[in-house]
Amino acid sequence: MPDRRTAIVTGSTSGIGQGVARALAAAGYNLMLNGFGDAAAIEADRAALAADTGMEVAYHGADMSKPDQIADLVTTTETRFGTIDVVVNNAGIQTVAPIEAFPVDRYDLIVAINMSSAFHLTRLTIGQMKARKWGRFVNIASAHGLVASPFKSAYVMAKHGIVGLTKTVALEGAEFGVTANAICPGYVLTPLVQAQIPDTMKARGLTEEQVIRDVLLEAQPTKAFVEVGQIAALAVFLCTDAAAQITGTALPMDGGWTAH
Ligand code: NAD
Repeated sequence: MPDRRTAIVTGSTSGIGQGVARALAAAGYNLMLNGFGDAAAIEADRAALAADTGMEVAYHGADMSKPDQIADLVTTTETRFGTIDVVVNNAGIQTVAPIEAFPVDRYDLIVAINMSSAFHLTRLTIGQMKARKWGRFVNIASAHGLVASPFKSAYVMAKHGIVGLTKTVALEGAEFGVTANAICPGYVLTPLVQAQIPDTMKARGLTEEQVIRDVLLEAQPTKAFVEVGQIAALAVFLCTDAAAQITGTALPMDGGWTAH
């Protein structure tokens, strides 16, 4: 293994991506952070992560819905770090609405960010991984990559697409030391989930407490949110050589949701 490998984690200014980025830096990876947010807060987070871990940590603000900006993210990372060894496709958004009322601009954006961005980032990075005979794609899908819920047509469609991409990339990388796996979390209490509570209240005519108990955690037999640190630990494991034979999978981490 080279002294240091480099990971790109998309959507790492918040929630799951931020947790995965921190865990990868703690495990010895240089990092390219990405995502939206307040510039000063992002810079403070970047500097703290570098100081805490001793790793090199950079940030690129690519809008993952824009293929040209994804290409710039890749060339900037290659220029800064030399190689891209791990790609965590995590950036994602959500909209909750019945399909007949689903805003078309939000549909386009969800497909672009939650699904197509992973295609573009993969197509632009897998070649150099295959040439060096080592690489890892960790795609943050969802339990909604395996099963559906009403009012999430675009999201469920995009997450099923990510699972399909993961399988294809696993097959294409298999003889080159490149693995691809999807992690399929159940509900994690991040800003993405907090933001959909009001929409779900509106779509289903429920109170906030009812949405948490009867909609979000209704699906999770453990009746507990998945923790960011648990997902991050699995992502780091998938990047180890011990996980070299795990590829093409969609791994649920959902408190038993998809066991139903
Ligand atoms: P979050 O809202 O906390 O974080 C989303 C991240 O994506 C942020 O850093 C945001 O800036 C970034 N982002 C959004 N649009 C972007 C764009 N156009 N370009 C670049 N970055 C962009 O959400 P989260 O809950 O941490 O979700 C992360 C991923 O995990 C998503 O793909 C989501 O679908 C998935 N997921 C979340 C849950 C959950 O319950 N929270 C469950 C399963 C899967």
